[in-house]
Amino acid sequence: MGTRCEWKKPVIMQIIRHSEQTLKTALISKNPVLVSQYEKLDAGEQRLMNEAFQPASDLFGPITLHSPSDWITSHPEAPQDFEQFFSDPYRKIPSPDKRSIYIQSIGSLGNTRIISEEYIKWLTGYCKAYFYGLRVKLLEPVPVSATKCSFRVNENTQNLQIHAGDILKFLKKKKPEDAFCVVGITMIDLYPRDSWNFVFGQASLTDGVGIFSFARYGSDFYSMRYEGKVKKLKKTSSSDYSIFNNYYIPEITSVLLLRSCKTLTHEIGHIFGLRHCQWLACLMQGSNHLEEADRRPLNLCPICLRKLQCAIGFNIIERYKVSCGVDSVKRGKWLSE
Ligand SMILES: [Zn+2]
Ligand SMILES: [Zn+2]
Repeated sequence: MGTRCEWKKPVIMQIIRHSEQTLKTALISKNPVLVSQYEKLDAGEQRLMNEAFQPASDLFGPITLHSPSDWITSHPEAPQDFEQFFSDPYRKIPSPDKRSIYIQSIGSLGNTRIISEEYIKWLTGYCKAYFYGLRVKLLEPVPVSATKCSFRVNENTQNLQIHAGDILKFLKKKKPEDAFCVVGITMIDLYPRDSWNFVFGQASLTDGVGIFSFARYGSDFYSMRYEGKVKKLKKTSSSDYSIFNNYYIPEITSVLLLRSCKTLTHEIGHIFGLRHCQWLACLMQGSNHLEEADRRPLNLCPICLRKLQCAIGFNIIERYKVSCGVDSVKRGKWLSE
């Protein structure tokens, strides 16, 4: 009697495959101004971007849907091509005096100071390579108490949670003069309002601030043994933050680091006005659950890359040369062939 682990095999339910013409128009557009802007990119840049509509490309592929709970099926949204992005009057463009992305950590990130510093160094370096041409700076880390945010113990999961909107207000007040945006990161879980169970993150595009929690990215959050459960909530005053002292934080593993790099760059992408990608497999695809988020690639598809390039103004080839992720090594090799 053989038992096989069939469930381990991913079942591809649907492939979203657009025609070459659709992808070409989404990338280059039919607007003569944008066409000539595209033609001004240098040959190497265009060669890479044109891979978007090569059906046999080994760099970019179609989006695959694996379950009805995946983002595109459960959250129908209007797609955004390059031209729609370009002509969006509300999108944020880094002005010459506002070209810094600030990262503010809230509460402890790692179990020791050294781990925290190492982790934030990786995150910062990653964002620098990703948003090539902008500065990425760290604000002095603050304890939860400094934000004066509301907090609670979640009745279902029994973990500590802080109020996302309060944190956004705090970040807005602290936003430096030269900031394009300020992103807060924390290992404490977030909730957006009393009636909600939790939220991974929240951002205000008009204020250029965002807060993202990596609490649920540890390997143990959904396990029975999760140590962040608060056994019994002593009646504490809303200004007594001592409950956060020595509160459980997940171990920083490579998986947690990878997930946080992806989340941070995806969310900062939204602050630039990039909407969820429905063209090709891409970092900007929406995700409804952790498994779908893990499936998303680290890199942007050419359509989203052109949006970012147009906002920041980097040279696409140079950007790939400075970054050192696995994907970029692959690309670097391809470009030098
Ligand atoms: Zn998103
Ligand atoms: Zn994309």
